[in-house]
Amino acid sequence: MKYYKELGYNGNFGDVIHVKVDDIKPTSHVKINTECPMCKKEHRIQYCDYYKQQHTLCNSCATTYFNTKIMFVSIVVKRLLKYLMVIIIVVNILNI
Ligand SMILES: [Zn+2]
Repeated sequence: MKYYKELGYNGNFGDVIHVKVDDIKPTSHVKINTECPMCKKEHRIQYCDYYKQQHTLCNSCATTYFNTKIMFVSIVVKRLLKYLMVIIIVVNILNI
């Protein structure tokens, strides 16, 4: 929580806070709710996984995506994410 408090967020252990995607630590194991840009289904991923992958595709769409190599999808996803707010559930201080 210290990290987020320094960024101006308020919240205690167990609280749900809204944090901008840009403010999440790249190594955070926090779960984020994301929407798959291809099938529009919601799914939850760990932020560190998203950071590594740089996309929010679900597993099945990711397979399709990487098989067909549609590069522009990745660029669209990155642009959308700038405006996406995510919900952080503070379940474990040590992981955040
Ligand atoms: Zn999908």
